[in-house]
Amino acid sequence: MDCIFCKIANHEIPSKIVYEDDLVMAFLDVNPNKPGHTLIVPKKHIKDMDDMDDDTYLYIFKIAKEIKNKLIDKLNCDGIQLCQNNGDCQEVKHYHLHLIPYYNSTIEMDIDTIYKKIMH
Ligand code: AMP
Ligand code: ZN
Repeated sequence: MDCIFCKIANHEIPSKIVYEDDLVMAFLDVNPNKPGHTLIVPKKHIKDMDDMDDDTYLYIFKIAKEIKNKLIDKLNCDGIQLCQNNGDCQEVKHYHLHLIPYYNSTIEMDIDTIYKKIMH
């Protein structure tokens, strides 16, 4: 299957990984809405909300909470938006939960600087 997020999850193409375990991976979005925009994906190919099983759902949201706290801690953002697209607004057809930092003031930081801040 030619799925870019399966390839990222299998380490076949590089990404800026901020979290990984046997079931999920979180990495920085290449085209961030805001600095620190992160995607969490299940490692197995699940298309969207309709195909998602309850156990994976719960697990993704448990990890999302940990990553939310890490982004707030490391980036000093003032909030985090979560969103997940289905249907025609879903560009990549492998389930992914967006974590998008919210800042009270305008922040401009390139992805490498953001990555270093999160990982240190
Ligand atoms: P969606 O519209 O919810 O499917 O969003 C897809 C997201 O994946 C967009 O925010 C893209 O910038 C992001 N994206 C696409 N390709 C990559 C990639 N190779 N690495 C990281 N993020 C990606
Ligand atoms: Zn996939």
